[in-house]
Amino acid sequence: MIYFDNAATTAPYKEALEAYMTASEKYFYNTASIHQSGKDAARLLEAARAQILELMDLKKYDLVFTSSATESNNIAIQSMLKKKKQFGKTILTSELEHPSIVNVLEEMKKDGFTVKYINTMADGTVDLEHLKILLNSDVVFVTVMALNNIIGSVQPIKEITGMLKDYPKIHFHVDATQAIGKADLDYNGVDTISISAHKFNGVKGIGGLFVRDLATLRAVQYGGGHEYNIRSGTVNLPGIVAMAKALRLTLGEAREVNKRLSRFNKKIRDGVKGLKAVYLQPEAAPYIVNMSFAGAKGEVVVNALSKRGIAVSTTSACASKLATLNETLLALDNEDKIIEGSIRISMGRNTAEDDVNKLITALQEVYEELGDVLK
Ligand code: PMP
Repeated sequence: MIYFDNAATTAPYKEALEAYMTASEKYFYNTASIHQSGKDAARLLEAARAQILELMDLKKYDLVFTSSATESNNIAIQSMLKKKKQFGKTILTSELEHPSIVNVLEEMKKDGFTVKYINTMADGTVDLEHLKILLNSDVVFVTVMALNNIIGSVQPIKEITGMLKDYPKIHFHVDATQAIGKADLDYNGVDTISISAHKFNGVKGIGGLFVRDLATLRAVQYGGGHEYNIRSGTVNLPGIVAMAKALRLTLGEAREVNKRLSRFNKKIRDGVKGLKAVYLQPEAAPYIVNMSFAGAKGEVVVNALSKRGIAVSTTSACASKLATLNETLLALDNEDKIIEGSIRISMGRNTAEDDVNKLITALQEVYEELGDVLK
């Protein structure tokens, strides 16, 4: 299978798997145990934490290890809002967020919060002028993702951090799950930031929440008090060590990989240019190309490519089982037939030129095969 679904998940680095194995064999101990082996494991944990903070250029931050970005987003939103209720009830967010943000915010509405959506510009970034209009003394929480998982648009995080300086009551959360190695963003000043190792060639089941001030958070589930009493549960040390390794490797090769993927991105776009019913979403981060076969269903295109040994996704793996129109594509004012016929092609460090050539041929063949349904 030729893999073009790297926004859903990535193949782990061999080195990350080796680090996972070594830590599992030599440091399987509980980092909370007070015997020498436990202390050795705890030392390794702290070394990995410090390395990740340094690599992210967030040395003044703390880092809470979690199981996933979904968990990190839940902790940031639920724990913050428990505390903030008395200070205000308005939450601002983009229209582009992942379900692990949107669905948590929908839950918070039941607790009396109001959720307002910041408009989206034609290029898939949030409208900062609209954000300015929405800001007022009732706003306690703003959450905007760093890089959108459907079309790859990179959000103006630094500008938003700057705008929020005048509102000290507001907690600013960024879901940076898709951005690691893909966009060089400055997160300093953001209150909490979520990441997930399996999106940057680490292993699954490990994520993180960077925190500017630990005192702003509290646990949303209770237990033995691990991870600053915010995320109890025996720490996944092998996953963490593998995540530190994957992060170092990802950031180290990011420039070279992104350059290559930019070339591939252009090649794919050029490859479908002559196909009349194919509609391309605006260009954004190079690893994602979102295109629609207008008139067809995205699932049909995904299946036709799958039969040819090529793996792509409909709008997103998480949402593709739901029969609703994708929010990101709706926010960009796409017609229904464009949204229904959309597929997401997402590349990664392992994508080769030959894979891209095969993909283009397959896209052209599928287009021919679909024939009259396309318009
Ligand atoms: N946020 C974004 C933007 C994502 O793309 C994803 C993964 N699809 C998540 C959050 C959830 O990540 P995880 O799988 O680690 O829970």
